Amino acid sequence: MKTACLGLGGNIGDPIRAMSNALRIIADHPACAISAVSRLYRTPPWGKTDQSYFFNACVAVLTSLEPEALLDFCLHIERAMKRERTERWGPRTLDIDILTYGEDVLETTRLTLPHPRMTDRAFVLLPLADFAADLEIGGRSVNAWLSQADKAGIEVVDNEDWWRGERAGNADG
Ligand code: ADP
Ligand code: MG
Repeated sequence: MKTACLGLGGNIGDPIRAMSNALRIIADHPACAISAVSRLYRTPPWGKTDQSYFFNACVAVLTSLEPEALLDFCLHIERAMKRERTERWGPRTLDIDILTYGEDVLETTRLTLPHPRMTDRAFVLLPLADFAADLEIGGRSVNAWLSQADKAGIEVVDNEDWWRGERAGNADG
């Protein structure tokens, strides 16, 4: 069993619902157990700035899935959440990235670990620091990377129980 940290985000449709459902699907997988969940963050759009705010969170998953199988599972959840909506809502209903998988360092055509862009993205580092501030990425702690990242405009909007609420609905229906 390894602990993997996942980063979730979305800005189209109902991202909080999509992220909540994703956590329920992960929790229901026989080879996965959720061991920590970050608070919920609202973050300004990056890159293309003429779009809605994003919501972001991180989760730690204790899993017996190998990295590539975990990636397949994450992509399956992304697709399931998109199917629930219409394609006009585009590709950012839900994004799930594998940030770390134990201490594994890996580079294949499908998967790079740790996630190569996580160390300069405050919208990843801030939620990750909620439960893994001392986790080492490339020889430095999450907190150390965070001290250099641009945190402008990022706000906490809910506590770590954000995904358990009534609002999130039921993953089955
Ligand atoms: P973004 O880089 O913004 O998350 P996409 O979600 O569209 O963009 O990219 C998905 C692809 O990135 C996946 O099909 C996967 O093969 C690849 N990938 C490489 N490393 C990772 C990782 N650590 N976590 C998730 N996807 C990864
Ligand atoms: Mg992705």
